[in-house]
Amino acid sequence: MRKNIVAGNWKMNCDLPQTQSLITDLKTGLVKEFNCELMIAPSHPFLYNAFNSTCDTVIEVVSQNVCEAEKGAYTGEISVDMLQSIGIQTVIIGHSERRDTYGETDELLAAKTKAAIDKGMKVIFCCGEHLEERKAGNHFDTVTAQIEKGLFDLTAKEMEKVVVAYEPVWAIGTGETASPEQAQEMHAHLRSFIESKFGKDTAINTSILYGGSVKPANAAEIFAKPDVDGGLVGGASLDAQSFLDIANAF
Ligand code: PGA
Repeated sequence: MRKNIVAGNWKMNCDLPQTQSLITDLKTGLVKEFNCELMIAPSHPFLYNAFNSTCDTVIEVVSQNVCEAEKGAYTGEISVDMLQSIGIQTVIIGHSERRDTYGETDELLAAKTKAAIDKGMKVIFCCGEHLEERKAGNHFDTVTAQIEKGLFDLTAKEMEKVVVAYEPVWAIGTGETASPEQAQEMHAHLRSFIESKFGKDTAINTSILYGGSVKPANAAEIFAKPDVDGGLVGGASLDAQSFLDIANAF
């Protein structure tokens, strides 16, 4: 059965002391068992330190990005092998900030996904529409096209390594959240789209996270929806208590 996951995307926040202090606060708060897996994605320079500080806890440290190529002349990039050599086994791919600010195309994101999965990594694959697309009623088409181009070259077996994150771009960092009904509607749509390609078992077992201004005050009602299996949390994950309160919403 699919897992519930709450993942903190720290983006380009926190230097080393701040990373360490946030991890210390999170560890202090791990006093009870959670009904979800916990993941955090600090910045690349601190992944090794973060991994070592959390390897005796339930927190999994994940990467915010990875290169599609294996090695060589790719200045500034970080490979799957490098991540795995420091214990990182999961990577976020296709965040809207990567798509929009860094021009990452569907083809590139498919290549990154394949590179990670070929070496046994798990992928949190993000999709989501812009406000204009929702206003024009194209949100389902936009999001399914992102999933089709990014993931549909995988086999059903490879798809077991994928967690999908639906993040409407208009809700990211804006304080505006999709309503629980809007999230459920899209998640159900995505699940049936995944079923159309990979079959019912894969669809049932794929975790689909919601992202976009998730906070302690709205997490419970979003997570209560049947096709919402957790959250990819930006801003609120930078505060340990808020992040743990969100995880407690399950
Ligand atoms: P937010 O970011 O929670 O700050 O809206 C979510 C994300 O970008 O993953």
